[in-house]
Amino acid sequence: MTSPIRIAVIGGGLAGAIVANSLRKTPLVDVQVYESAPEFSERGLGIGLSKLALQALEEIIPSATDLLRSDAGAVDIGASRIVIGSGPKAGALVCDIEGDAGLAMTRGPLLKALLSLVPNDILHAAKKLASLEQTASGVNITFEDGTAATFDAVIGADGIFSTVRKHVLQGAEEHGASPVGGWECRNLVPVAKAKAVLGETSFEVDREYCWVGDGGFMMHALVDDGTMVQCIVACVETDFPPDRKRTVTREVLEDVLDKSWFDGPIGKQMVEIMLDQESPIGYSIWEHKTTPTYSHGRVCLVGDAAHTTSPYQGAGGGLAIEDAFILGNLLSTISSATQLEAAFKAFDMVRRPRCQKVIDTSRASGQLLSGQTPDVGVDAEKMATEMDVLFGHIDALDLQAHKQAALDGLQKLLAQ
Ligand SMILES: Cc1cc2nc3c(=O)[nH]c(=O)nc-3n(C[C@H](O)[C@H](O)[C@H](O)COP(=O)(O)OP(=O)(O)OC[C@H]3O[C@@H](n4cnc5c(N)ncnc54)[C@H](O)[C@@H]3O)c2cc1C
Repeated sequence: MTSPIRIAVIGGGLAGAIVANSLRKTPLVDVQVYESAPEFSERGLGIGLSKLALQALEEIIPSATDLLRSDAGAVDIGASRIVIGSGPKAGALVCDIEGDAGLAMTRGPLLKALLSLVPNDILHAAKKLASLEQTASGVNITFEDGTAATFDAVIGADGIFSTVRKHVLQGAEEHGASPVGGWECRNLVPVAKAKAVLGETSFEVDREYCWVGDGGFMMHALVDDGTMVQCIVACVETDFPPDRKRTVTREVLEDVLDKSWFDGPIGKQMVEIMLDQESPIGYSIWEHKTTPTYSHGRVCLVGDAAHTTSPYQGAGGGLAIEDAFILGNLLSTISSATQLEAAFKAFDMVRRPRCQKVIDTSRASGQLLSGQTPDVGVDAEKMATEMDVLFGHIDALDLQAHKQAALDGLQKLLAQ
């Protein structure tokens, strides 16, 4: 009998959970997942998975969509309307976007549903990776609790400030996370209150609204079965607080948003909603601008550890699912641990250009929605055209062709 290929996944967030599901299907692989937190859990608000992300997930977990509906409370992503919010054209329609057959859900139940499909004894909480070292035949890892283990390979799914990333990039600090140039503040308010402040007209049709303009954009959407409204004000960032947070006050918002927001249909009202909470905080958005490789020997990066992207296209989670799909297929093809390095190289070859493009178009989308794109500004027609360009490529990926490119790449590398 061939001995199993032992793989440690570091990080038990969305990427780690999906990779664990994907690798569980490959008979030769024995996978163990290590999470630094005392338990496997996800905080934070909702997440939307696009049609393509769900297709990739179905490749890993057949009937994943049903599972997410039944166990994670997932609901269809509804329609959204994009409207100008500042300047003389305030109120003009940019475009309407129909729901794209994706699903929206909260993160905690999503992670729980994904982890419910893997055996409990492969999930190890309170295990924070401290260091890793590659040898000729594998990877030695040590945890902060002083314990150590040896694996044939390590997959880093440990998020934006990944320890595994530092190893893969050999400490090249210029490829660490850095500010994208935007921050955002949120408040979740009861629907009655939102209607009273924002006006009834925004709620006549159940859809998300995105108000775009000079210096930022504002969003509001019904959540929690229509009982609550999620409100977001996203602003251009020009100072970059090292702790990635700022206290949000009226002065801060008036300073960053163009004055014309406050004469428009929504600016003043959304600012009131943001300030109507205890200590409103604005969180800076960071990303990985460049990454020279996702793999180094027997160590590979997935999810935000490899390619943190800004949230403006809601695509980071989908990329993690695509990673798991491709990696699972590559690792099903190899017959021994000596082929791991080639599999990780093949993964890097197809995934890096794809993810880098999303990082770049996502950043550009944030700039567009904040009226910062040269020659476009807050012109509704030009914005609509530019949106098509920036968003069109994300769900246009042919998953099967992408998989085949990875497998072909692996065969070439193995033949060398
Ligand atoms: C505001 C916002 C909105 C977003 N909206 C969407 C959306 O609508 N759709 C979408 O697809 N994407 C969205 N994203 C992106 C998406 O949330 C991320 O891409 C995704 O959650 C990344 O998952 P991950 O597992 O790679 O990283 P993380 O979720 O960061 O998980 C990393 C895990 O590793 C653990 N860890 C860290 N260090 C160590 C260590 N040394 N040892 C062991 N464990 C460790 C952490 O505790 C954590 O559990 C959004 C992101 C943001 C910021």
